[in-house]
Amino acid sequence: MSHESRKALTRIDPRAPLVLDLRALNRRPGSMRELTSTVPAPADLGTEMVGVPEGADIELDLRLESVLEGVLVTGTARMPLTGECARCLDPLEDSFDAEFQELYVYTDTRSGVEAGEDERRVEDDLIDLEPVLRDTVVLALPLSPLCRDDCPGLCPDCGVRLADAGPDHHHDVVDPRWAALQGLTDLRDGKQEG
Ligand SMILES: [Zn+2]
Ligand SMILES: [Zn+2]
Repeated sequence: MSHESRKALTRIDPRAPLVLDLRALNRRPGSMRELTSTVPAPADLGTEMVGVPEGADIELDLRLESVLEGVLVTGTARMPLTGECARCLDPLEDSFDAEFQELYVYTDTRSGVEAGEDERRVEDDLIDLEPVLRDTVVLALPLSPLCRDDCPGLCPDCGVRLADAGPDHHHDVVDPRWAALQGLTDLRDGKQEG
């Protein structure tokens, strides 16, 4: 195909797993439809440290409501998470419920509402949940996930897991930088006195 379509043209791929077809929803404001489905997770959903494995089941539980300007989507997406502890690098497994509410505006109406560049749109009776899910997940996930709140991490000197090594683990090493700093301090204090 040709190079990237312009913004005005449809960009939604009807076969993408997080794209919903709205044809079964009546456009009359107040009409409502509930939808549950399980879809495979897209790639790279998450942060560097923790995320949803590609292809894992995402359970969607959605309510679609017709409003004047478009379709209001409210729902949850339950998904498994895998990652590693930011301190001890142990593997982590968890699950996460993303809750979201988003208005998708019709592109074929002139509601007088200013259409922002990143506004979600209904295009050809399709909406794409993926950007909403991405924003929700990335904002909610911790930047530094921990296997437990008080994970002691790794020994900075030898790299052993401190949870295994116990509280008495330590090394009697004199850091040569301390000696150098001590020398500088002596010098400075000497000058001040003189
Ligand atoms: Zn840990
Ligand atoms: Zn150590």
